[in-house]
Amino acid sequence: MRRVVVVGGGPAGTAAAKAAAACGVEVVLVEAEPEPGDRRRADRRRLDGVEHLAESEVWAIEPVAGGHRVHVRTGPTDGPDRTGRAIEARALVLATGAHDRTLPFPGWDLPGIHTTQAVLAGTAGIASGERVIVAGPGPFLPPAATSLIEAGARVTAVLEAGDPVAAFLSRPAGVLADRAGAGELARHTAALAGHDVPIARRSAVMAASGRDRVTAVLAARLDEHWNPLPRSLRRFEIDALVVGFGRTPRLELAGAAGCAVEDGSVAVNAAQATSVSGVFAAGELTGIGGAAAAEGAVAGAAAAKLLGARVRAPIKWMRRARAGRRFAAALAEAYPIGPGWREWLSEETPVCPCEGVSYGELRRALAGPGEGGSRQLELVTGAGLGWCRGHRCGRNIAELAGQAEDLGHGGVAAPVRLGELAGER
Ligand SMILES: Cc1cc2nc3c(=O)[nH]c(=O)nc-3n(C[C@H](O)[C@H](O)[C@H](O)COP(=O)(O)OP(=O)(O)OC[C@H]3O[C@@H](n4cnc5c(N)ncnc54)[C@H](O)[C@@H]3O)c2cc1C
Repeated sequence: MRRVVVVGGGPAGTAAAKAAAACGVEVVLVEAEPEPGDRRRADRRRLDGVEHLAESEVWAIEPVAGGHRVHVRTGPTDGPDRTGRAIEARALVLATGAHDRTLPFPGWDLPGIHTTQAVLAGTAGIASGERVIVAGPGPFLPPAATSLIEAGARVTAVLEAGDPVAAFLSRPAGVLADRAGAGELARHTAALAGHDVPIARRSAVMAASGRDRVTAVLAARLDEHWNPLPRSLRRFEIDALVVGFGRTPRLELAGAAGCAVEDGSVAVNAAQATSVSGVFAAGELTGIGGAAAAEGAVAGAAAAKLLGARVRAPIKWMRRARAGRRFAAALAEAYPIGPGWREWLSEETPVCPCEGVSYGELRRALAGPGEGGSRQLELVTGAGLGWCRGHRCGRNIAELAGQAEDLGHGGVAAPVRLGELAGER
């Protein structure tokens, strides 16, 4: 079992695989997409000395004597020729990244509402000339808005729920820990000013409306806790709405491995080791906005060391990872999620759009009998059990239920058919 398995082939996972392979240990990189690497860059990383399982999803991991067994399925999720494999590893590096977070509000499930990441990935399909509002808190709003403008859309306004400038000014060292990241954000913000796009601070969309798709939104000014200020409602006629409320780490596998989670991210030490022996974590899984590739390089070297390889301390990468953590902490402080968003919900607002579970139903389930853990809520209401497997709603529901500490309770990390399970030995 002198083997490291790396799960996730984004910047963190590819860096981990390369670093471990460079130390002379056997490395398997499992990535759900056809190719590994940074999706923002056309050049893909070379992975010499790494067995790369492309289009492969890890759906479960289990502890075995001296390590973990990783269950992988390869091939398109609904394809007839998916194959299964179980790989045993002494060391695991989890680099499963994060997915978008969208907070619910009345009308949030209407067609014509997209996420900032869909815009940045070029998959939102907003047409030239369309009137768009970009709303939420976070550093992705300015780049999403500028890319819409470049594509010919008319960005009416950017509504930023927080007051990041004040937060950055109160913590300049954290922001300047990643000068490139801070510079990118400043460039996009300046570009918006150049296009006369107003950025309204402490403002948010309270509701979206439209018959078949979104045609208007109601926006309000917010206090520091995100409670709407009286008499501040304003209506915008629009063709599309883009929302982004940050990103939330993909915790299923880390949860299945039993890794400790703090503030919604996997807790790691300076060597990227989690609370579970032999399991390392890197990238957005451990916090949004850090130096993913540097963390991956540290995790890969630490995993190889655990296997007995002679490893020189990756001081340069550890320094970068530390600086990345300072930047990530500054971002988290500048773009917090205020508790007032719960006040935007009506009884009818769907909190789990896949399964059509409303806020009212969730509240009734919470008031009902039982100890009310998140697993019980899922079973009683169906919330979180739809096709997105809770990616869209899981964190919101945990917070509405006051069970945010339950995040990362683990489970199946990717869809798997019963027939496939029956075929596994
Ligand atoms: C569309 C888009 C645009 C972005 N634009 C910017 C930007 O302009 N500026 C900026 O600073 N940052 C941007 N980011 C964020 C940046 O890409 C991340 O910081 C970085 O990708 C984090 O790297 P990571 O390796 O932790 O996670 P990711 O890059 O998300 O990689 C995680 C990988 O794990 C794989 N995976 C997850 N679960 C499994 C599983 N069970 N089995 C197998 N594989 C699995 C996923 O397929 C994914 O490829 C953008 C992100 C996206 C999605």
